[in-house]
Amino acid sequence: MTLAERLRRCFALLGAGRRAVLVLHVDEAELEAKRAAVATLVNVQRDPEGGPFACPCCASLTLPTRGQYELCPVCFREDEGQDDHDADLVRPGPNGSLSLTQARANYAALGACDRASLHRVRSPTPQERPTR
Ligand SMILES: [Zn+2]
Repeated sequence: MTLAERLRRCFALLGAGRRAVLVLHVDEAELEAKRAAVATLVNVQRDPEGGPFACPCCASLTLPTRGQYELCPVCFREDEGQDDHDADLVRPGPNGSLSLTQARANYAALGACDRASLHRVRSPTPQERPTR
C-alpha cells in the first residue's frame, strides 16, 4: 500500500470534519542514500539558445530548454534531464516509477508517456514533428 493510499484510508476512517496528527518516520540513512544517488545522476541540460530541443521521450521538438523540468505537451513527460545515457533507470523525481525507456514504450503504444496523462497530450505541430 502506498503512502497516499494509507493516508486516504486513515482520513476515510476518521470521517469528515475530524482532525488528525500525522507522524512521519524518516529513515535518515535511507534519505542520505537517496540524496547520494540523486547527486550521481548525470542530467542533460541546455539553455534556451539553440532550442527548441527534442523531447527525450517522444522526440518532438517541444522543449524550450533541457533538464529544466519542462512538461512536453505531446507526451506529457517532465524533462528532468534523463536521456539515452541512463534511459533504463527509474530516477527519483517527477516521473514517478517510470523509466525513460518505459515512457518511450508507453508513448509508442498509447500516445502519452503514461496512461494517466492521455487526456493531457496533443499531437505535435508540423514544426514540432520529430526529426529522428
Ligand atoms: Zn514528449
